[in-house]
Amino acid sequence: MEHVAANPWASLAYLIAGVCFILALRGLSSPTSSQRGNRFGMIGMTIAVVTTLLTHIPMGIDPDPSDYISDIPDIVTIAQILAAIAIGAVIGVVTARKIAMTAMPQLVAAFHSLVGLAAVLVAAAAFLNPAAFGIVDAAGAILPVSRVEMGLGVAIGAITFSGSVIAFLKLNGNMGGKPILLPGRHVINLAVLAGILGLIAYFTQDQSPWIFWTVTALSFVIGFLLIVPIGGADMPVVVSMLNSYSGWAAAAMGFTLHNSAMIITGALVGSSGAILSYIMCRAMNRSFISVIAGGFGGDTGGGSGEAKEQRPWKRGSAEDAAFLMSQAEQVIIVPGYGMAVAQAQHVLREMADKLKEHGVRVKYAIHPVAGRMPGHMNVLLAEANVPYDEVFELEDINSEFAQTDVAFIIGANDVVNPAAKTDKSSPIYGMPVFDVGKAKTVLFIKRSMGGVGYAGVDNDVFYADNTMMLLADAKKMVEEVVKSLD
Ligand code: NDP
Repeated sequence: MEHVAANPWASLAYLIAGVCFILALRGLSSPTSSQRGNRFGMIGMTIAVVTTLLTHIPMGIDPDPSDYISDIPDIVTIAQILAAIAIGAVIGVVTARKIAMTAMPQLVAAFHSLVGLAAVLVAAAAFLNPAAFGIVDAAGAILPVSRVEMGLGVAIGAITFSGSVIAFLKLNGNMGGKPILLPGRHVINLAVLAGILGLIAYFTQDQSPWIFWTVTALSFVIGFLLIVPIGGADMPVVVSMLNSYSGWAAAAMGFTLHNSAMIITGALVGSSGAILSYIMCRAMNRSFISVIAGGFGGDTGGGSGEAKEQRPWKRGSAEDAAFLMSQAEQVIIVPGYGMAVAQAQHVLREMADKLKEHGVRVKYAIHPVAGRMPGHMNVLLAEANVPYDEVFELEDINSEFAQTDVAFIIGANDVVNPAAKTDKSSPIYGMPVFDVGKAKTVLFIKRSMGGVGYAGVDNDVFYADNTMMLLADAKKMVEEVVKSLD
């Protein structure tokens, strides 16, 4: 295989692609610039793919070495590559168009699993035919440094693959969100991880196939073992952590393939995913280690959960809600997963517009883990053209609830659950939450009193004196409120 770094045009093109990816990440950091960011990403990826194809045109066997045409492109292989790209593009476009916003997190997990699998397949191809990858010495043995890259690439790729499959099954509801805790799991995990690292070290001395395949198999197993004990409430961190792993797997394989674009892209994805995981851990007031160690969101909590059927609560109507909000000076809307399920964002914006006509100040409060993926609520509100200056992050708005007339909770639950602050046995203990109870009135939309949030625990806000429950589908309820505001 041609060493791409030797081609200055390819290096330049990869550098431009790398700059595009950095601009893409920069753009994605804010809803206002996210579309521009996505465009940069698409341009960067197109440059990287086209450059790779042009610098690696497969050549066929020269049928007549005596003529002046020395190299003939291998049409069959080129057709196969283009067909594979076309099939992948069609699957990508159809999936992206069809996927419901609520199913986005599991789609991301599914895509990460493919990145992991790709890294495993590339490493396996390099191991089975190292000469084609230019990673052999004069005696035909795989270069030791390439063995390390290959070992790390296959290990991280396999962990990403099986971990992402479990994350997909949990997020998609095929597996319960509760953590599955195997006895002695920490010891088993550490032993397996140590085994993988030891075998990769040994692989530099001995390139026997059994070592490569054992590393691969153990890595698939450890990916499964690492994610199974992690509960649903920690899934956002897991998804971003797997995102990071998939980046490192790609970077490791970039070294094996001598492809600087893959190294740059992998490192960008790996580090941005790691930073996002860190930010999310901070948002949940958890340590990264405690998330990785698993067990969060299990049966330990629910101290406030037992009494839910017995406790009194107040039911309100759309008319009540419209009246209370039209009289308010300030309303803070707290959206959550239920708003995404009901697709209530458009009618919610209509409601906010009506309230503003009544002279009410409207703000939106976004929790970093509201919904089922990072930025879930921001995306939906942006889709409904909610002005960005009305959207506030947790730390910027939480102190305002005490001076607010109405906290309007639409499909959020865990992110407004005070048990996170008061109940040490609760699975969400430690997660920062909105102090909605401090508002004069809390209007709480959900479909039934029986339904719980993602972490599966009851919420004292339902039963508070200043709370009025609006039990209905979020979209239907807000439509009714809009009618009543006319
Ligand atoms: P929750 O999952 O805690 O609560 C959702 C609420 O919406 C429930 O009260 C549910 O009650 C209600 N609901 C569901 N469908 C509808 C509907 N059609 N109309 C009205 N209400 C509806 O959501 P939050 O956003 O508050 O919290 C997110 C949780 O998800 C956190 O625990 C977080 O850790 C976790 N998570 C977050 C991820 C992320 O990256 N953001 C990823 C994975 C998990 P009812 O059924 O009674 O209607």
